[in-house]
Parts: sequence; C-alpha cells; structure tokens
Amino acid sequence: MVFVTTYTVKLKSKQEVAVGTMAFWWQRPEGYTFAAGQHADWTLINPPKTDAEGNGRTFTFAGAPQEPDLMICTRLRDTAFKDVLKDLAIGSQVSMGPARGSLVLHADAAKPAVLFAGGIGITPFRSLVLDAAARKLAHKITLFYSNRTPADAPFLQELSNVANPNYKFVPVFTTTQGHLDREKLAANIIDLSAPIYYIAGPTTMVLALRDLLISAGVPDTSIRTEDFEGY
Ligand SMILES: Cc1cc2nc3c(=O)[nH]c(=O)nc-3n(C[C@H](O)[C@H](O)[C@H](O)COP(=O)(O)OP(=O)(O)OC[C@H]3O[C@@H](n4cnc5c(N)ncnc54)[C@H](O)[C@@H]3O)c2cc1C
Repeated sequence: MVFVTTYTVKLKSKQEVAVGTMAFWWQRPEGYTFAAGQHADWTLINPPKTDAEGNGRTFTFAGAPQEPDLMICTRLRDTAFKDVLKDLAIGSQVSMGPARGSLVLHADAAKPAVLFAGGIGITPFRSLVLDAAARKLAHKITLFYSNRTPADAPFLQELSNVANPNYKFVPVFTTTQGHLDREKLAANIIDLSAPIYYIAGPTTMVLALRDLLISAGVPDTSIRTEDFEGY
C-alpha cells in the first residue's frame, strides 16, 4: 500500500491577477519544499457543492520557492470546484499533496532555456524565472508568453521587469500578432538547436508548439512539456 502525505493549508489572501483569473496565497506548512516548476494535488474539504470531476484539481506552484507563502493561480470557470475555490473565505483550509513533477530547469547552465507559456501555463514559468533570478543562475532564459490580449495575461508587468541580465521576455498577443510561428522563433533564437525547450499550457497549444519545434528541426529530446489537461 502506498501512503501519500497530505497537508492542510490555510488561505491567506486572494487576488484577481487578469481577466477571470485569480491567484491564491496559502500558509506554507512547516518544512514543505518544492522545486520551481512543480505542482501538487489540491482538494477542497467538505465543499458545499461538487461535480463529476470531484473535489480535487492539480495546480502548479506559481510562486518562487524562496517566497514565504505558497501561491497558485487559475482561470475561473463555471465548475463547482472553481466556484467554491473563488468564494473561499480567508482562513479556510484545503488539503494539498506533496510537490511532484519534472518540469524543472536543467542543470547545465551552458544550455539556454526557452520557455513557452500559453495563458495560465505561465504558472510553472513564473516560479522558474523568479527562482533563477533569486539564485543568480547563469542559464540564458527566454520566455515566450502568449495570451489573447494584455488584459488576459497574469503577472505581465512583473515578468517584463525581472532583474536578471540573462533573461529575455517576449510577450505575444494573439488577437493582434497571431500565434507564435517559425519567423517569430527565429527572430528571437539564434541557434534553434541549442536550447532545451519547455512548453506549458492547454493541450492544443502544447501540441501545436511541439509540432512547430519538431518541424523547425529541434530534437524531441530537447522538448519538455506540461499539459494542463482540463482546459
Ligand atoms: C501537471 C498539471 C498542472 C496544472 N497546473 C495548473 C495551474 O497552475 N493552473 C490551472 O488553472 N490549472 C492547472 N492545471 C489544470 C487543472 O488541474 C484543471 O484541470 C483546470 O484548471 C480545469 O479545471 P476546471 O474546474 O476549470 O474544469 P474541469 O471541471 O476539470 O473541466 C472538465 C472538462 O470540462 C470542460 N469545461 C469546463 N468548463 C469549461 C468552460 N468554461 N469552457 C470550456 N470547457 C469547459 C473542459 O473540456 C474540461 O476538459 C494543471 C493540470 C496538470 C495536469
């Protein structure tokens, strides 16, 4: 039998950070650690309503590991889980599992990292980018951040102001600029075969970007993805 440790965490604050998008800060349990890019399973305790998907969802830690509280961020949709989460009173408790996942920055700083976030797929990369800045990592990091409009993009201002000379931020607004394509990639990455690529977001976006990279000659072994199934 496998026993998974769960933690009870208390909601400290919440804030709308983009259109229909809310961030939640939780008191970190004593000694709880995670690596930038990891996620956990979150479960509502005795919610007033539920649906076929149940009382749990997976959310990525959107805060840097150095931040004192734990932060998650989600698009609010009309599901029982999200309705209850959105309306949780400050001080309410939910249950959270251990940190897991392998969408973490590679160790070899000589290899650049290219990150592609589609909308809410920004959560692992906010953590990763802030962590790299805090630890003064030598990796060259380029973050492509696609949203329909600036109003849809959580943490936009913050991500454009990260203090790290090795960091480049490329916001893409699809209503005016269209989707990321080979030309936009080539304009920002000199040698497409050099980096390790990370993609996070809704399934359709992850698949499309993976195809784009493969067709541009990027080896499959250089592509790491996190599919936010359920979007
Ligand atoms: C590794 C991992 C990390 C993740 N990290 C995050 C994260 O950081 N932030 C985050 O927000 N999510 C994250 N997710 C996704 C998250 O777990 C949920 O699946 C997602 O938020 C959707 O939950 P929901 O309650 O809105 O919809 P669900 O109830 O889970 O939706 C079930 C299905 O209903 C449909 N549906 C529901 N509402 C709508 C709607 N309004 N419009 C269209 N279709 C709809 C969808 O087709 C969906 O497949 C992650 C998932 C994984 C696997």
